[in-house]
Amino acid sequence: MEFSRRNFLKGTVLGGTAFSALGFDLAPVYAQTSSLKISRASETRSTCPYCAVSCGVIIYTIGDKAKNAIPQVLHVEGDPDHPINRGTLCPKGSSLEQDILNDRRLLKPQVRRPGATDWEDISWDQAYEEIAQKVKKTRDDTFIEQDANGKTVNRCEGMAFTGGCTDTNEFNYLAVKSMRSLGVCYLENQARV
Ligand code: SF4
Repeated sequence: MEFSRRNFLKGTVLGGTAFSALGFDLAPVYAQTSSLKISRASETRSTCPYCAVSCGVIIYTIGDKAKNAIPQVLHVEGDPDHPINRGTLCPKGSSLEQDILNDRRLLKPQVRRPGATDWEDISWDQAYEEIAQKVKKTRDDTFIEQDANGKTVNRCEGMAFTGGCTDTNEFNYLAVKSMRSLGVCYLENQARV
């Protein structure tokens, strides 16, 4: 017999009927099969990072408390107890799970050199080194201590910084402090858009 999803389901139902006829109590088995996939997951409350509405979400994970297990996000949904969204999410927020579980997600730094057409993978150490050198050079070249009227301004107009929609509040706090300390005045974050 050809094995198909339909045949498998038919076999399962017929098998269940036969076991019931023999006096086995299948209720616990059925209860187990119909339990939610999130029933044994950890719940973590968080905030949708995509826009300034800041809807509350619950992230369900497994494997984060067991030794030698790889933590895995199972499901993300709106938080029904959150005063802003009361469990609802817009289509962007509803796709949060795909933001986390996505094999197209970049997990290492890449650089496209001047004139190159392809992106090159580089190590984190190399990325930090190159960014630090470029920031230092640009700041040295473009820092303005006084404006045309002789007023002290101490600003760097040669650089701009923009944060991504998935940056946390803590990351943004540090980014603003770091950029202001360099004199960068063009600061923005996509989440404000
Ligand atoms: S769910 Fe939609 S409306 Fe709510 S914060 Fe996310 S992107 Fe904004």
